[in-house]
Amino acid sequence: MNASEIEKLWEDVKKILETEIPVSSYDAWIEPLEIIEYESNQITLLSGQAIAVEYLKKNHYPKFLEAFKKVLNKDIIVIFETDKETFDKIKKAKAKEEKKEERKIEKAQQKEEEHKKAIENLGYVQSMNLNLKYRFDNFVTDENNKMAKAAAESVASNPNAQYNPLYIQGGSGLGKTHLMQAIGHALINSKKIQCVKSEVFINEYINSTARNKDSNKSNLMNKFRQKYRNIDVLLIDDIQFFEGKKQCMEELFNTFDTLHLANKQIVLTSDRLPKDMPEMPQRLISRFEQGLVVEIRPPKEETRIKILENLAKSKNLKIPKDVFCYIAKNYKTNVRELEGAFNKVEAFASFEDTDITLEFAKHVLKCEERNELNIEKVAQEIAKYYGITVEDIKSSARSSNISNSRKITAYIAKEYLKLKLEDIAKFIDKKHQTVIYACEQIKEKLNKDNKLEKEIKEILSILNLN
Ligand code: ADP
Ligand code: MG
Repeated sequence: MNASEIEKLWEDVKKILETEIPVSSYDAWIEPLEIIEYESNQITLLSGQAIAVEYLKKNHYPKFLEAFKKVLNKDIIVIFETDKETFDKIKKAKAKEEKKEERKIEKAQQKEEEHKKAIENLGYVQSMNLNLKYRFDNFVTDENNKMAKAAAESVASNPNAQYNPLYIQGGSGLGKTHLMQAIGHALINSKKIQCVKSEVFINEYINSTARNKDSNKSNLMNKFRQKYRNIDVLLIDDIQFFEGKKQCMEELFNTFDTLHLANKQIVLTSDRLPKDMPEMPQRLISRFEQGLVVEIRPPKEETRIKILENLAKSKNLKIPKDVFCYIAKNYKTNVRELEGAFNKVEAFASFEDTDITLEFAKHVLKCEERNELNIEKVAQEIAKYYGITVEDIKSSARSSNISNSRKITAYIAKEYLKLKLEDIAKFIDKKHQTVIYACEQIKEKLNKDNKLEKEIKEILSILNLN
């Protein structure tokens, strides 16, 4: 018999003895015994106390013989030995072993729990519209977005402490949704969260106010309010979509106040600053500004390269660095477009079953290299930035957006490209006095107008001129 078979034999015998010997005696004298040996019809049992051995020999010896006989189907001799030191050593070793075993089981249980939770979370993450891609650990920072990330991390580790609401502002594709959802992920196990796009919130609200034959209107509204008010953290993406929708802004206002009063965390994103949404009522704007407003500006070139490197790494792709540099140089204002350009190159390489090289990326993207900056390119970027066309800049249209873009083009061409006034005037098709006036106006405004200062800073960064 091997060691575990002998142990098993002893367990079986103890089960029999347990039924035949009074519990108190059994617990005191038999349960602690250790089986040491089973050799040539002889079993040796060890005790730590001489008195126990004496007691058992005197009172229960025949029961031991019978029990062993029952289990083994043969007669054997039972010998009791007393050796306190060895006995203690065995008990100690056994206890250690048991602890180890317990720990093992605990660990296995813990793993199972974690696994279960992860699966549950996955469902939760999906039902919350959280994208697993958007986490803090894969958000690349530089001076243009580090404040926003730090604020988001602060909210994630300490909701409703310092920044409530947290309002994240930035242009399209600069990581607003990414940061907002990262907060959601960080809090998913400890808080009840709702993450919603503004359009969805608006649609759900409208649906719950609609007259519906089959369902009770107030029930629908209750359900809607329950969903967005009976929570710890509300994340609303692209808040600018509420602008001008009167009823929806009212509902947003009430939701906001209910949560805020109950000390619940609110996080909002928008492509505009609160004060740059003219149709938003003042009471909403002041609430948006009540916590912390952080801005995300377009990432620097090295950040864009890092984002692409990470993307390639996450897809297990080995790509030469000059490809990342090329794409990063040509996609400056929007990380979504930057990633899109990379994905396009990857998809084409996969269709054509070829390696991704700089030549290949150039062939796919056909980007114009922008090393040589001229007034045409400056105007192109400014037009893109303000959502107009170069033709608008060259036109005589006088709307404030276009006229502003024209003045900024003149200003940058004069101050940064150091172009002659005549050349600038020719480009924008105006007199050269107009150029002088435009530049002076921008210079003067720059000292007073923070919004303009910020915009020009961003444009200069896009043009790599700062
Ligand atoms: P926004 O909501 O501001 O329009 P998103 O958060 O949707 O932009 O970001 C667009 C894409 O760019 C996403 O895939 C996002 O993961 C990625 N992205 C943006 N900024 C960063 C960054 N700093 N680091 C890593 N990925 C980024
Ligand atoms: Mg977004």
